[in-house]
Amino acid sequence: MGLIVQKYGGTSVADIKRIRNVAKRVAETFEQGNDVVVILSAMAGVTDDLIDMATQITESPDKRELDVLLATGEQTTAALLAMTLKNMNHPAVSMLGHQAKVITDCTFGNARIIEIGVENIMDFVKNGNIVVVAGFQGSDIKGNITTLGRGGSDTSAVAIAAALKADICEIYTDVDGIYTADPGICERAKKIDRISYDEMLNMASLGAKVLQIRSVGFAKKYNIPIHVRSSFSEEEGTMVVSENAGMESLVVSAVTHDKDQARITLKKVEDQPGVAAKIFSPISESGIIVDMIIQNTRVEGQTDLTFTVPKDHFSTAMEIERKVAQEIGAEDVLGDKNIAKVSVVGVGMKNHSGVASIMFSTLARENINIMMISTSEIRISCIIEEKYTELAVRVLHTAFGLDEED
Ligand code: ADP
Ligand code: ASP
Ligand code: MG
Repeated sequence: MGLIVQKYGGTSVADIKRIRNVAKRVAETFEQGNDVVVILSAMAGVTDDLIDMATQITESPDKRELDVLLATGEQTTAALLAMTLKNMNHPAVSMLGHQAKVITDCTFGNARIIEIGVENIMDFVKNGNIVVVAGFQGSDIKGNITTLGRGGSDTSAVAIAAALKADICEIYTDVDGIYTADPGICERAKKIDRISYDEMLNMASLGAKVLQIRSVGFAKKYNIPIHVRSSFSEEEGTMVVSENAGMESLVVSAVTHDKDQARITLKKVEDQPGVAAKIFSPISESGIIVDMIIQNTRVEGQTDLTFTVPKDHFSTAMEIERKVAQEIGAEDVLGDKNIAKVSVVGVGMKNHSGVASIMFSTLARENINIMMISTSEIRISCIIEEKYTELAVRVLHTAFGLDEED
């Protein structure tokens, strides 16, 4: 018996039947004598539909109003679940982000949680209620509604679990755990029983969207165990915990992919001090995060410079760089959205050589061209054409001995 935070993702609350299924699970946990706080996502596809509606009005909707709109997705499911629980004769109450005192900064669309005042949630819990909180949303100090970035209900859940000092945060989703590659594209991916926060941070930062990266950061900081599991089965899922000695013995422990990147190249840039600052300062000032950067060798005092940005920010970044190119006299700015990043990750790579050559030769055998490479001691990433993503993930998974046996 304890305090359990459960988060249900979009597919788990996609329709009324599934909301009833969630209510049953929540009620079971409650009837076992636990205090239960539930965090919900919007129904699958609803956030996309809302964004779509907004962009029918204007290509770049007002960010404040967009957050007011997007927050309605989670408001709907929170109310529907609380209603269902009450109908089953369980005391339940729904709360929006601001009622649950989820205080964020004022970065609309990608706000960070600053603090959570737990007294409102705890008052309801102490009075014997199941509390259902709308995920993905909070409010800034002025009371504006904010949202936490795509996939943000994971972060709502773990942050609330940390603030309430919950015993565990259970993340219910459409797969029964964290796998060695996205099971949606790699059928031989293996379920991982336990994974460390660091390893999961590594995977999430390289595209494994099963957990939003910030949620793992919170879990690590406050030492909250996360159990990722399916809302459609009773099977044990994956525990995300502080230490996991087992994985250190694997050289490569997972293969990830990320289709949310786009590539920008500035052609024939003068190779002089200060040029890189001119190219990247306006990008960072507008809040765009640059991931990989390569600069070609100098030819006649000039060089090409290529970097990647999130696809969502591609058109803004292109606009910025066209202006920069004029200022610094670069010949042209080229953009490519049809790229993907595939990565092999593993803390065990620290002590092994030869991982890069296996990765490159495996991709070469399939005739997959590598456009950019970046490495750290615990991962190697390659940018390739987007259409080869699934193939690349599968062949790398096999090459590093990760396949599930028949
Ligand atoms: P939810 O709506 O429940 O938050 P998401 O779609 O955000 O669900 O995350 C679950 C999805 O993450 C899975 O359906 C799967 O396709 C994807 N995924 C990517 N990488 C992995 C991985 N390594 N292990 C498990 N799932 C992964
Ligand atoms: N509904 C939001 C999204 O689709 C948040 C979430 O599901 O975690 O990104
Ligand atoms: Mg998600």
